[in-house]
Amino acid sequence: NVNILLQLSDSDLTLNGKSYLSDILSAASGDLLNLLDDAVTQIQHENEAKISRLQKIEQGFLILALLVLLLEAHFIFRPMVTFIEQEKQSLLAAKDELERISFVDGLTGIANRRYFDEFLRREVERAAREQTPLSLIMIDIDFFKAYNDTYGHLAGDDCLKQVASSLRNTVRRPTDLVARYGGEEFAVILPNTSLEGAIRVAEKLRQNIEALKLPHLGSPQEGCLTISLGVASSSTETKDIPTTLIAKADSALYSAKRSGRNRVEYEKPSLATFSYG
Ligand code: GH3
Ligand code: MG
Ligand code: MG
Repeated sequence: NVNILLQLSDSDLTLNGKSYLSDILSAASGDLLNLLDDAVTQIQHENEAKISRLQKIEQGFLILALLVLLLEAHFIFRPMVTFIEQEKQSLLAAKDELERISFVDGLTGIANRRYFDEFLRREVERAAREQTPLSLIMIDIDFFKAYNDTYGHLAGDDCLKQVASSLRNTVRRPTDLVARYGGEEFAVILPNTSLEGAIRVAEKLRQNIEALKLPHLGSPQEGCLTISLGVASSSTETKDIPTTLIAKADSALYSAKRSGRNRVEYEKPSLATFSYG
């Protein structure tokens, strides 16, 4: 029987190391060979059918794996990403809010513009109430854009910290305020201080920055970093409001810039009694 013959392995047809398969095949008639051929073809078909079934199962598993991945992305990763994004947004909002209500400048650690505005408003009111003078010094670093261009923005930031710390260490009265007004501009409020006194403080601030000898080779006036200062005072006669006091100090600062920088300028008082230097 052909089927029995096909089920036999090589070893079944081997005796004492000699294979009898070729003997059987040569002794067989043509019919047997045809039968064998048919049987082999049939087995081939069966095997192909098995392979195709296995391929279908493999594809099924692949689709299942993709489905699991899609479900994971949809039900786990997407909500996770949304959650992280929401957390980030609320943290950013909290940071903005903290910055908004903060009184300290993040970079230099001195009072910020918000605190300055509030402090000046209070001091102007107090000066008017108590009939005392009040002075304001506006400070601007000379050629600071060139400083950033030469040494880079990070070195620029570091320089701002050093300038802030020098200004704070120079102004000694506990009632005085040194603030970062914005960018590379600082402001000093000196309660109960006349214009003469404020000019002296301003000159000291200028000298101490010069004494730091921070190299500034990018400046048109090659050498060290310097500042320009504008001083203005509100006396019991002038009764300035914060904005006019700032405007006067600012215009004095502008004069200091125009007349060569690294100097103190002040709003020239109309009072004949004024004396300085
Ligand atoms: P001037 O002597 O006329 O004041 O010249 P300047 O270059 O200092 O003035 P300008 O207003 O043209 O440039 C100010 C520059 O200060 C602009 C910017 O490059 C720099 N600056 C402002 N804020 C910051 C800051 O927070 N960090 C740094 N690194 N640089 C700043
Ligand atoms: Mg400026
Ligand atoms: Mg400047």
